[in-house]
Amino acid sequence: MNIFYAKYLLELKHQFTISYNSRKTTPVVLVKIEENGIAAYGEASLPPYLPENQETVINYLTEFSHIIKRGYSDIPNIYKLMESIPVQNNPAKAAIDIALHDLTGKKEKKTCRELLGIRSNSLPYTSYTIGIDSPEGMRNKIEAAEEYKYLKIKIGTKDDRRIISQVREITDKPIYVDVNQGWDNLNEAFEMSKWLADQNVKLIEQPFKKYNLAGSQWLSERSPIPIIADEDAQSLADLEVIKNSFNGINIKLMKCAGINEALKMINYAKKNNLKIMLGCMTETSSAISAASQLASAADFIDLDGNALISNDPFSGHHASDGKIYLSDKSGLGIDLNKEIEFIKL
Ligand SMILES: [Mg+2]
Repeated sequence: MNIFYAKYLLELKHQFTISYNSRKTTPVVLVKIEENGIAAYGEASLPPYLPENQETVINYLTEFSHIIKRGYSDIPNIYKLMESIPVQNNPAKAAIDIALHDLTGKKEKKTCRELLGIRSNSLPYTSYTIGIDSPEGMRNKIEAAEEYKYLKIKIGTKDDRRIISQVREITDKPIYVDVNQGWDNLNEAFEMSKWLADQNVKLIEQPFKKYNLAGSQWLSERSPIPIIADEDAQSLADLEVIKNSFNGINIKLMKCAGINEALKMINYAKKNNLKIMLGCMTETSSAISAASQLASAADFIDLDGNALISNDPFSGHHASDGKIYLSDKSGLGIDLNKEIEFIKL
């Protein structure tokens, strides 16, 4: 097994603004794993608010390649090998996990969802994310997202009612809102949750600061619409701590280190009556098609990361009329259709 990487910069179609950050690009590290002439792909997406970056991912991949060269037997063993690396780097682990699922699917001539025992080709609607913008900017973005049936709106500012009212002047589509930890007053949050429910908002993501579990629990017990943990729900280990503080969790492959861990989170959420949202960073079709393999298990889908960029190097995964369609090709079902200079480790 040979491992390769390439630094790549995703170009966003629009300037992307959330409650504490604004940007036009997202760095990623693309990973290629090659075995017996079969090439498989994964990716680590690295938005600037993560502690990891391209260099730490490449360092992790380098360590991993040293271990692999000493010999490995099977995929479960590879997860144990990753655990033996004393650095926490979930985006790098996700990149390896995604590429391994692609590789195994291609070797066994099965789609990833067949490998995972999940049956579904056509999936529910994905939301499309609209960042914070001027009234005119919001209008342009919403009109450009016409084919999507659900919108995800970033709020968490002092102007939240105005932002949602502005959206409502343009469209009556159902909305998911992401507060990105931007609220701090319980009673105001409760009043907002009732007002948002009246505005056909279907869920509220991460209203309060990470670790404000008492506040989140108070709101989750009162809000008419589900309160979904994002920053508070990074991986399986978090769920035991937060399960009573939220009505659901947003699972992202980059946060939780890939498909293997995401499946454990899905099983945990189902057992503990937590709603499941599948989310993403800005990502190429590699990570988005990986997450989409799990989408039939989710209550809410927010897998638009590849639709937000203008230079996706992969093809084969698409959404049309706001619905995700999975490719029937083996593995992730994607092809690399751009000349990328991969560096061998
Ligand atoms: Mg979020």
